[in-house]
Amino acid sequence: MTQTPDLPAFDWPVMEPGWVWLCGAGPGDPGLLTLHALNALRQADVVIFDALVQEAILDWAPQAEHIYAGKRGGKPSAKQRDISLRLVDLARAGKRVLRLKGGDPFVFGRGGEEAQTLVQHNVPVRIIPGISAGIGGLAYAGIPVTHRDVNQSVTFVTGHDQSGAAPSSLDWASISKGSQVLVIYMGMKHAAQIAGHLIGAGRQPSEPVAVVTSATTADQRVLETTLGTMVDDIAATGMEPPAIICVGRSVLMRQVLDWQGMIAGEAPRDLDPLGRGLPAEIA
Ligand code: SAH
Repeated sequence: MTQTPDLPAFDWPVMEPGWVWLCGAGPGDPGLLTLHALNALRQADVVIFDALVQEAILDWAPQAEHIYAGKRGGKPSAKQRDISLRLVDLARAGKRVLRLKGGDPFVFGRGGEEAQTLVQHNVPVRIIPGISAGIGGLAYAGIPVTHRDVNQSVTFVTGHDQSGAAPSSLDWASISKGSQVLVIYMGMKHAAQIAGHLIGAGRQPSEPVAVVTSATTADQRVLETTLGTMVDDIAATGMEPPAIICVGRSVLMRQVLDWQGMIAGEAPRDLDPLGRGLPAEIA
């Protein structure tokens, strides 16, 4: 079993029987867990986890029963109801329940629905945020989700709605005009439609796009492409979900900020990818 350090001295909350803690596990790398998550893993009787939660993280709760509650994208929401009610049952049975979800529980994770059901059933809850893939996953690819020269806002978008279809209810024209950087979750299945919507709404086919799959894990892959070529490029690389698709010029910053490449010995490709001008001392 993996050893974890003792928690530093702090007034850590105690997990009482009958409570559910709804907790984000971050995008993959176990080191991106919060200390509150680690505190929860150490106390739980039951851990109910999603598909995207890494095995190594569960190893940190050896005393707990581990229950898989993974859902495949786009399945009907009845199953979601089952999961929520299962949490209620476990809490009522007096368990200390840790509901562990990938990324942040309140970002495209249906954490709000689960927490609401718990509150409706008088089950006490605590929420532990996590690092969302759309922020932390991009950081591991060397892409700053905001960058002063590029964007003053960022839009997080889901690539499919509850039924699994591309979210036709989204106002793509507003989204494409609304912010310079778009971060798309669950976008692989409908990548062609999404790219078409955005180009149709006026975004340039030449606009930089990054696709980051299995971000922050050992299997992380990054594709640098453009809005016009992304669909063919994704197919050519055979990349598979989970993926974050980032649309916008911040993607260019990877040319100087691919820190994982640099750790592996690669030189930065361009010290000034946005053409801002180099500092005098290195120009
Ligand atoms: N609550 C999660 C998102 C859940 S929706 C969060 O805050 O990150 C599931 C989607 O998240 C996936 O389809 C994918 O778009 C994205 N995702 C989650 N983990 C990821 C990872 N390690 N790499 C790339 N994308 C990821």
